[in-house]
Amino acid sequence: MLKKRVEELPKCDFANLAPCEPPCSGLAQYDAPVSGRTSWAFMCEGHYKMFGNKSMENISYELVHGIAEPLEGDAVEGIEPNLEENIEYWENVILDGIREITCPECGEERRVEPDATGIFNCDGCGIKIKCPEPPM
Ligand SMILES: [Zn+2]
Ligand SMILES: [Zn+2]
Repeated sequence: MLKKRVEELPKCDFANLAPCEPPCSGLAQYDAPVSGRTSWAFMCEGHYKMFGNKSMENISYELVHGIAEPLEGDAVEGIEPNLEENIEYWENVILDGIREITCPECGEERRVEPDATGIFNCDGCGIKIKCPEPPM
């Protein structure tokens, strides 16, 4: 199952068609091929169990609600001076409480908390950037 991030969950295409278990919330959790057909549909968990084509799971999507935290997938490591090369930078991090992570793709800088970890979207070009591990 692949994952796809969506800002808004679409409606379940089978919401009014048949009761399902767990009961249909009206919102889809999957975007997947329909069993016995060539078409795709948005389906809640219960309706995916009933109508989803499980043999196509490798190309089906599980929908992930929200945009705040991009998926890890193809994130690239952000650029930041390391402690040996640039001790001044890290002294300033301690004084100012701000790190500066540079996008390797477009050079856009993002200011983050000293203990920041995880993934963010570059404001300049939109790629996923992974915060380097802080040295302390
Ligand atoms: Zn449903
Ligand atoms: Zn960028």
